[in-house]
Parts: sequence; structure tokens; C-alpha cells
Amino acid sequence: MNDSRLAPHSLAELLASARAQLDDPREAALLVGHALGLSREMLYAHPERTLSPEECEQALALVARRADGQPVAYLTGQREFYGLALQVGPAVLIPRPETELVVELALERMKGIASPAVADLGTGSGAIALAIAHERADARVTATDRSPEALVVAANNARQLDIANVKFVQSDWLESLEHERFDVIVSNPPYVAVGDPHLEQGDLRFEPSAALSSGPDGLDDIRRIALEAKRYLKPNGNLILEHGADQQADVSALLAEQGYTDITGHRDLAHLPRAVSCKSQRQVA
Ligand code: GLN
Repeated sequence: MNDSRLAPHSLAELLASARAQLDDPREAALLVGHALGLSREMLYAHPERTLSPEECEQALALVARRADGQPVAYLTGQREFYGLALQVGPAVLIPRPETELVVELALERMKGIASPAVADLGTGSGAIALAIAHERADARVTATDRSPEALVVAANNARQLDIANVKFVQSDWLESLEHERFDVIVSNPPYVAVGDPHLEQGDLRFEPSAALSSGPDGLDDIRRIALEAKRYLKPNGNLILEHGADQQADVSALLAEQGYTDITGHRDLAHLPRAVSCKSQRQVA
């Protein structure tokens, strides 16, 4: 029997056992800390501390799920996005750092507009909508999702973070919205091509496929949003879409086809082409 399989008694032994089972020692510490309800500092303050068999079992169960590939964010139920501690679960996409670019672009476009009306389509955990609403207390944000389970997660996050200027609406893209007009519409829609091997790797294997993939070229939902958003934007309103790193030319072309102007590509922190912003025509379509 492997040493790491011997039942640990102390915190130091538990940590050693967790580290032996995971590739990343920081994940081992994070998961053990989460299971025991200990901060990082507390985790290392008293390594000799004796643990109950239940405590060890709980922590090792979490470590085993991680060793099976389950995402850390689903195991801890948390992920930080734009400085906000969001609760996440398997009903929603895990917020990614590159999506902060979409928030930055939206905030930029909102400058100088008092009480801007903003829509976040396919909000998932609420990440983009809540980040924008938190930065701009005067904004009136509408967040949609087709999934009722996702909307429960997003609304809980709004409550926990005490962010009151977001309205959640169950809607397939813009379909169920009242005929409002927005200054800014943002979305991180699904954009991975069905069958892309990327979907079989890492966290993506455990995330909702409805939040990830979209037709044979990954662009089905972006096409639909481009078509529908025109009718929901104020004249000169802004549409900002996240997309795959190899899709910027195609997304720009389909937006041009729909009559959007000022089509601009943007790169994320990893310098990958990751988002396109554009404007509706000055005359409302
Ligand atoms: N950026 C994600 C990934 O490829 C996909 C998220 C999405 O489809 N919106 O990991």
C-alpha cells in the first residue's frame, strides 16, 4: 500500500497525502483548507494539529474528486471574477479571467452615459452583469439566461454581494425581453465548435455544454445574437461579444453583414483575439 493511503492523523499528514494525489500542491492546500474551513494561514500555523477521522475523510473525498478531474471551482463552489467572490456550480460556466476584457470594454463604452441600460445575455453565474452593476451603481442591468438553474445561481450571487441593480430574466437570448433599448449589450455566449477536442479536456468536461458549444463552427449563437441585438440597441448603442481566439475575422464579418459599424477586435491578457465591439447604426433599424 502506498504511504499516502495510510489514514492521516495530523494536519501535516493530511496535507502530505493530498499533495501525493494531486499534481498541483496549491490545489491540495486549497481543497484541504476548504474541507476543514481553515484559511491558508491557519492551515500552516499548526501542522501537528490532530484531526478527527471525519475531517480527514471529508478532505480526502474532495481531493479524490479533484484527482478524478472535477474542476476546483465546483469543488469549493467559488470563483473570483473582477474582484467579486462568486458562487458557482455545475449549472454554470466557471468564470474565466479573459472574460474580464468584456467587462472592461462595457465599462469603457458606458463612460459619460448616466444610468446606462445594459443587457448581459447568457449570464450564467451572473459574472459579467454583476461586475458591471458593481462598478456602476447607476447602471440598470438586465441579465438573461435560458437556464432556470443558472438564474438561481446568478440571483443568489446578486443577493450575497448585495448588488441590487441587476434584473434577472429567463430568456433565450433576447426573445423574452420587453421591447427595451439598451446602451450596451454584452455576451460571453457559447462559441466552441461541436466536436472540438478542447471540450474533452480539463474543466470543460464538467461544464454545461449549452454554455460552451454552438453548432459546427461554434458561431450559431453569435449569429443569432448579431441578428437579434440590433432591435434592442439604442441608436449608436454598443454590442460587445466574447469569441474564440480563431474567430475574430468571422465574427467581425458577420457583424458587418448585419450592418453594425465601428467593428473593432480586442485582445485578452494573454494577447489572444478574444472580443469584438461594434455599434448599431445611428438610425435605429
Ligand atoms: N473560453 C472558454 C474555453 O474555451 C469557452 C467559453 C465559451 O464558450 N464562452 O475554455
